[in-house]
Amino acid sequence: MGTLFIVAAPSGAGKSTLVNALLGREPGISLSISHTTRPPRPGEQYGRHYYFVERTDFQREVAEGIFLEHAEVHGNFYGTSRETVQDLLGQGRDVLLEIDWQGAAQVRKAKPDVVSVFILPPSRAELERRLRGRGSDSEEVIERRLRNSRGEIAHAHEFDYIIVNDRFEDALDGLQAIVRAVRQRSTLQCQRHEGLLRELLIES
Ligand code: GDP
Ligand code: ADP
Ligand code: 5GP
Repeated sequence: MGTLFIVAAPSGAGKSTLVNALLGREPGISLSISHTTRPPRPGEQYGRHYYFVERTDFQREVAEGIFLEHAEVHGNFYGTSRETVQDLLGQGRDVLLEIDWQGAAQVRKAKPDVVSVFILPPSRAELERRLRGRGSDSEEVIERRLRNSRGEIAHAHEFDYIIVNDRFEDALDGLQAIVRAVRQRSTLQCQRHEGLLRELLIES
């Protein structure tokens, strides 16, 4: 079984950029593509960035219980498919969820061994600069996301790790170090190297 990771951050902190760079560097880890009722941004593709769905379809899927977690964030609904995550973990792949703090709390209840990481911007001014610099959202959406950032950051202490995304390469190294350290945990290594341990423990 693979390990489940969560990465959360206030909008604009650099979460998606860090996660994409990590996936490019580190084999064996897959990103779970969320379902959302948010309209696509220019350049966003169905099935690559999100499964974009209508609100009525999302509500039906909630009722059908297809989501491992779901939440309303910045006025839109987002959810993670239970089946996709289970399938990937079952194939032995590590799975990364880019979700908000409410979803993270739900996943911790369902899967207590999840490893969670929170990304902080280096300052409020820089968070605002990045949100605007991304150029993907309207002024109204940017202001809403900035207003909501405090509510997200107030939950940073609930996460196992916190990374300050100041210099991008340093933040990326930090994220990669977490993934690599988790893969060397003794509980996982004892399963993986059962044969080796047996051989090393044989008395001659
Ligand atoms: P960005 O990540 O700030 O660029 O903006 P998005 O619109 O892509 O995501 C908005 C919020 O929804 C973020 O806080 C995400 O972490 C969260 N989010 C995305 N997908 C999911 C999901 O499947 N479940 C939950 N609970 N939150 C999600
Ligand atoms: P999120 O997914 O957290 O909303 P993004 O990954 O979309 O954030 O990043 C927001 C913007 O900030 C993007 O334009 C991205 O290129 C930029 N960015 C990310 N990390 C850094 C960094 N360390 N320094 C400067 N700009 C960054
Ligand atoms: P955006 O709309 O900018 O892509 O994402 C905004 C926020 O929604 C981000 O903070 C992101 O982490 C969160 N988000 C995206 N997908 C999910 C999801 O499947 N579940 C939850 N709970 N949050 C999500």
